[in-house]
Amino acid sequence: MVMDEGQAKEVKQQLLEQLSKFPEEQVKVLKQQIQNATPEQLEKLISSKDSNESGKCIFCEIVSGNVETIKVYEDSAIFVMMDISPASLGHVMIIPKQHYQFIFQVPDQVLWDMIKTAKMIIPSLINIVKSKGYNLLISQGTAGGQRVDHFSLNIIPRYENDGISFEWQRKTLINEQKVVAEKLKEIFSKIKEEEVKSVITEEKKEVKEEKIDKEKTEKSIVFPRRMP
Ligand SMILES: [Zn+2]
Repeated sequence: MVMDEGQAKEVKQQLLEQLSKFPEEQVKVLKQQIQNATPEQLEKLISSKDSNESGKCIFCEIVSGNVETIKVYEDSAIFVMMDISPASLGHVMIIPKQHYQFIFQVPDQVLWDMIKTAKMIIPSLINIVKSKGYNLLISQGTAGGQRVDHFSLNIIPRYENDGISFEWQRKTLINEQKVVAEKLKEIFSKIKEEEVKSVITEEKKEVKEEKIDKEKTEKSIVFPRRMP
């Protein structure tokens, strides 16, 4: 439920009071943002802060404008910026505006927007920095090297002898891999079954609704009487 006018006014007041904690040059911009915010924007502002427990997620702070960054683009769902400690020249980060740590928490539409944005900017980025390739990197969990608990898609342009390494030692785990595959196959088939079931239910529902619609239309047609 979206907050009403009264609640929005109260939240705006609270946010404006918090502004004294920020550097002077940012206060003016933030003040305007808060004053012009719609109830939906205000709710997003609050929820992105609440959803990161420590209240210190650097990406959330960037998204809400409290921390400066090299912004490239933003829309209602995603934020695109240059990494300020890049792995290479042209290192771009695409993040969801809402705080999610893992890929399975990110809504499908937001993920799609992130991938679509990467697809859209990569040719131009590569052309600008004249790189010889690139890596798309998503780091998850501590062992995966995730440094900020806020999901991000990294575009890392690659150059000859750039010192970046994603090389790994190849292991011999054929039988173990087969066991994992069997388990995954089982899960996949269950997911697919569920999908098919839900599609069939949807189709049946649609057919039923169409029938009802048709009956309604037929009933509602009043044939004009022929003039004598
Ligand atoms: Zn965050």
